[in-house]
Amino acid sequence: MNIQIGKGAGFCMGVRRAVEMALDSPGRYETPIYTYGPLIHNPQVLEVLKERGINVLLKIPPKGSGTVLVRAHGVPPEDKEKLKKAGFYVIDATCPRVIRVQTIIRKHAGKGFATIIIGDRDHPEVKGLLGYAGGNGFVVETMDELHNLTSFENAIIVAQTTQNSGFYKNVKAWANEKYPHYITFDTICDSTEKRQTEVSRLADSVDTVIVVGGCDSGNTRRLAEIVKEHGKTAYHIETEDGLDEIDFKSSDRVGITAGASTPNWIINSVQKKLESIVSEKDTAGRKIWSAAKQTILFTHLYLATGAGFLFYASTHLQQICCVYPQILMAALYVLCMHLFNNLTGRKADRYNNPDRANFYKKYTTLLFILASVSGVAGLGIALKSGVIPFILLLSMSITGTFYNFKLIPDNISLWRYRSLREIPGSKTVFIAGAWAVVIAVFPPLIEGNGITVLTLITFIWVMSMVFVRTAFFDILDMQGDRIVGKETIPILLGEKKTLKLLKKLLWIIIAFMIISTLVQITSWLAIALCICPIALLFGLRLYNQKKYISDLKVKFIVESQFIIAGIIAVIWKMYAGSVIY
Ligand code: SF4
Repeated sequence: MNIQIGKGAGFCMGVRRAVEMALDSPGRYETPIYTYGPLIHNPQVLEVLKERGINVLLKIPPKGSGTVLVRAHGVPPEDKEKLKKAGFYVIDATCPRVIRVQTIIRKHAGKGFATIIIGDRDHPEVKGLLGYAGGNGFVVETMDELHNLTSFENAIIVAQTTQNSGFYKNVKAWANEKYPHYITFDTICDSTEKRQTEVSRLADSVDTVIVVGGCDSGNTRRLAEIVKEHGKTAYHIETEDGLDEIDFKSSDRVGITAGASTPNWIINSVQKKLESIVSEKDTAGRKIWSAAKQTILFTHLYLATGAGFLFYASTHLQQICCVYPQILMAALYVLCMHLFNNLTGRKADRYNNPDRANFYKKYTTLLFILASVSGVAGLGIALKSGVIPFILLLSMSITGTFYNFKLIPDNISLWRYRSLREIPGSKTVFIAGAWAVVIAVFPPLIEGNGITVLTLITFIWVMSMVFVRTAFFDILDMQGDRIVGKETIPILLGEKKTLKLLKKLLWIIIAFMIISTLVQITSWLAIALCICPIALLFGLRLYNQKKYISDLKVKFIVESQFIIAGIIAVIWKMYAGSVIY
C-alpha cells in the first residue's frame, strides 16, 4: 500500500498563533488563565492546554479574575466587553483573517448595509461575525435558504473563513445575476482554499483519504466532503485509534490530510499506525528490516556511526594521521550523550515522536546501560589518548548528562534559568560546539600537533554542519517543544526565519571551504566535502516542498551527510591522499 501525506495538513496560521499565545501565557499573565470557549476544535490540544493549567470558560460570570484568551474563531464584540467588565484581563487570539471579516461587517453595518453570512449557523466564528452586523445580519447555510431570503436595499455577502470555496462561488454567481448591487467579499482564507485544492488533488491520486481532525471541526468535515465529491472514500477520524475501524483491503493508495486545528503529533501518529498496518502484510524479512531501521534511528546508532565517519574526515582535512580507537571514542561519546538526552528529556517526545517516547519507556534500563557503557568506554579511550583529552571529554560528558536537569533551585533568584536546557537556543549551540570539539580539536590534541588554522577551519565546518542538522530537527519538533516549554532556535525565530538562516549558513560554509582551498590553506578534500552542505540544502528543500515525503525520510537524508563525509575522505585517501600530503 502506498501512503501519501497532504503537504498542507496540520495547524493553519491562525490556529498555530492562538495555540502559541495560549502556551506562552502561563508565567506571563495573571492566573488563573482561561480560554473563552474551546480555543480550537481539537480535544487533544485542549487536553494539553488543561495540563498547562489553561481551562475553558464556558459562561461569563458576573465577577472574575485572571486572564481570558479569546479564541481563534473570534467572539461578538459585546462578549469582549462583558469579560472586561467582569474583571478579566482579555487577550485577543482571534485570527487576523477573521478580524478582517469582522472589520468589513462592522464598517458596512455602520453605513446601513445588511450582512449575509454564508456559513454554519452554530459555528463560533459565524456567531462572532453576526455580533458585528448591528442586528441586521443573516446566516445562510444552503442555496435554498439564499433563495428564500428577503431582498435588501443594500447588502454585503461574506463567507465564513473555512467555507467550501465551490459553494461560495455559486453564491457569488447567484448574487451577480439576481442582486448585482450586493457587494460580495472574498473572505475564505487562503489556507482553507489551499487545503481544499490540495485535498482535491490528493483524492484524485489515491483510493481512500483519511481526514484527521476533531469531530466538531467544520473545516475537517468539509475536507471529507470534498473527497466524497471526487467519488473517493473518506474517513474522518480524530486520532490513530480511528484506523482500527477501517478495512483497507481494497485500498492500494491511501492519502492522509488534516484539518486546520490538528496538531502534527496526531498526524504523525496516524501515519505511523497506518504504516504499521501496512507492514503487517509485509514478509518476515521486510518486518525485520523495518524494526532494525527504527531501532538504529531511535538509539542514535546511525548518528554515532556518522560521528565516527566525520572524525575520520576531520583528521584528513587537517592532514593528520588517523588513529582508529579515537574514531570509536567520538562515536561512543555521541551515542552516550544523545541517549542520555532522550532518556532525561522524554516529555517533548510524547508529542513530537510518540513511537520514540514509547520505545524509550519500554527499554529504559537497557538504553540507560547502553548509554553508561558507551560513556565509560569513550572516556577510557580518551584517558589512553592523554590527560587533556580525558579531562575535556569528562567535562563535556558531565555538562551533557546534566543538560536537562534543574541545577538552580527555585528559591534562589540569581538567574531566571534553572537548567541549561532553559537557556534559549542553548541545545543547538551546545550540541554543535561539543561535536566540533571532539571531532575537530581532539585529533591534533591527541597527535600532539597543536591547534592550527586547519583545526579552526575544520571546527567551523563541523560546527556549522551539526548546527544545521540540530536546528532543522528542532523545526520538525517545534509543536512538542513549545508545549513542554523548550526554547529552541526555531521557537525563538519562527520556522521561516530559521530555514532562511540555515540555508544562508550552508552557502557561507560552501564558499568558505572553496576559498580556503583556492588560497591553498586546505587540500582539495575541502571542496569535495562541500557535497555534505549541498546534501543538507537538498534535505531542506525537500522539507520545504513537503511533497508527499515523510519527515523520517528527510531526517534520514540529513543524518546521512556525516557518513557521506567519511566516505568522501576514504575515497580521497585511496586516490589522491598520497599525492597531496
Ligand atoms: S483557517 Fe484561516 S481564518 Fe481560520 S484560523 Fe486558520 S488561518 Fe485563520
